[in-house]
Amino acid sequence: MNATHEVFNQVEPLVDINLFAANRAMQDALRFNAPALDTAPLQALGAQVGSAEMQTHARLANVFTPQLKSHDRFGHRIDQVEFHPSYHALMTAATAAGLHGTPWGTASRRDVGPPQGATAPLGGSEPHGVGSVGAHIHRAAGFMLFTELEPSTLCPISMSYAVTPALRDNPAIYTDWAPQLTSRGYDPALKLWKDKAGVTMGMGMTEKQGGSDVRANTTQAVPAGSDHWGQRFSVTGHKWFFSAPMCDAFLILAQTPSGLSCLFLPRVLPDGTLNQLFIQRLKDKLGNKANASSEVEFAGATAWLVGEEGRGVPQILAMGTMTRLDCALGTSGLMRQALSIALNHTSQRMAFGKKLIDQPLMKNVLADLALESEASTALALRLARSFDRPEDEHERAMQRLLTPVAKFWICKRGSHFAEEAMECLGGNGYVEEGGEGIMARIYREMPVNSIWEGAGNIMALDLLRALRKADAAAALAHELAPARGMHTALDHLAESLPIRVEQMATEMEARRLAQDVALAVQAALLAQTAPGAVFGAFCDSRLAGHWGHCFGSLGSGVDFDAIIQRAQPR
Ligand SMILES: Cc1cc2nc3c(=O)[nH]c(=O)nc-3n(C[C@H](O)[C@H](O)[C@H](O)COP(=O)(O)OP(=O)(O)OC[C@H]3O[C@@H](n4cnc5c(N)ncnc54)[C@H](O)[C@@H]3O)c2cc1C
Repeated sequence: MNATHEVFNQVEPLVDINLFAANRAMQDALRFNAPALDTAPLQALGAQVGSAEMQTHARLANVFTPQLKSHDRFGHRIDQVEFHPSYHALMTAATAAGLHGTPWGTASRRDVGPPQGATAPLGGSEPHGVGSVGAHIHRAAGFMLFTELEPSTLCPISMSYAVTPALRDNPAIYTDWAPQLTSRGYDPALKLWKDKAGVTMGMGMTEKQGGSDVRANTTQAVPAGSDHWGQRFSVTGHKWFFSAPMCDAFLILAQTPSGLSCLFLPRVLPDGTLNQLFIQRLKDKLGNKANASSEVEFAGATAWLVGEEGRGVPQILAMGTMTRLDCALGTSGLMRQALSIALNHTSQRMAFGKKLIDQPLMKNVLADLALESEASTALALRLARSFDRPEDEHERAMQRLLTPVAKFWICKRGSHFAEEAMECLGGNGYVEEGGEGIMARIYREMPVNSIWEGAGNIMALDLLRALRKADAAAALAHELAPARGMHTALDHLAESLPIRVEQMATEMEARRLAQDVALAVQAALLAQTAPGAVFGAFCDSRLAGHWGHCFGSLGSGVDFDAIIQRAQPR
């Protein structure tokens, strides 16, 4: 062995930490949005997802990616996807924590209980279809923490969580499936839903000719009788993006004689035979590696109507609204993870005689990232709160308004954020290997949350639709009111926004409006949840213009040390 040099000035990776205890921004946002919340399960989950053991599962699930097994060795079609055991370990942990459906827990559920050693579920279980107080925000915080462990397995978890508001409109199917949908058991086998400890669900909208404009869908659904689950259809066509094809069932869109409709399509039919769904291939993706995303064809597949025939788009958007929330939560979680790794690295690495974190310009970068991370956390969790209070008119208005705003703005910021956090690690940040390689994974993951579930422009245009329907200007003014008088720039923006909202921006202005609504709400939230140093620097930079066009360009007068200290994961 050649002893050519001593290895030094490399950092200890950030493992075996409690991701909840480390996240003061999240704790303060939860105190603000849900003061009575019992955070003990989040503490337990934070320790679990921050453990070296779970991080190893996350790495392996991304290295040994899913493989399509279209046929068995005798030539029969099986249409299954094979995953590494670490994928299943992650799915087991996410379902045990209730991230896939606990807020919708049913009184009638068959409670199989969490696997041994699993953390308590988030949000408890409540009467049929009604979330307990704080159940959604609790689950949202857990989802963010889990994202820091591994985001791509959360795709089927998110879709399973999101499906309930849409699926309930076929009460017969929902009654049959809800116990397994909300159960904390994970069962990857392709078999009849009622023989399983738990099920997952996905969604199929996007076709080759259009994803945003789903009205262009060509998949046909022909009436084929009716039964206990209602109107039955025979479906022929395809989906160009169809994530997590090993889910037990999907909500899809297809053209029935009355127009585009939402249909429930299980992989295994009630008689135990496989449905006519054929996986053509798996997508070779930039990131999101542990999750299988496929192309599928339906050749006379059996599906049942959900909701009103011909009203498929609003029907499936009840699901899309919740997955959009998860895009905002997930990106916020990834930002927090990237920030923590950058802080961990720069707190140990020396350059030019000082730790990097003590170099003035690096302080500017880290503090700026910390502001962005905290503002994203605040906005995402505030949006999650609105799902717990559907009976409250203001919360309903904010849910409609802030879903596209948060999905647009937080996800838009994600890729810039990841690139800058990666650069804090220098060359090690760009390398896939080991603990530091998580940064490359985060960077590859970031864009997908902005693209799927409605890309940036679609979200900005959806905001315009939201403004047309609700008394949005008044709701926005009400939301911003608690921060009035606390910063001149925020006051100016708060005064101008309701007017811009009432005057109705054109499509050309939609992105700018979505950005400004996001910044105003983020600032107003930070005024109520964060220390003055964070709130002041956020408003000075993002609202008053004391900022450049890249991270690390905060102006003088910022309390860099206070902001960085608050964000430190240890
Ligand atoms: C990894 C991955 C997994 C996915 N999984 C699923 C899944 O499970 N199920 C599913 O149904 N879909 C899935 N999708 C598809 C995804 O939702 C679509 O890709 C997305 O909605 C965009 O549709 P599109 O690709 O057809 O792009 P297009 O609709 O062609 O849009 C292209 C661009 O044009 C913009 N645009 C569109 N219309 C307008 C307009 N009127 N004004 C201005 N700009 C506009 C969009 O914002 C976008 O930037 C997945 C995608 C990815 C990347």
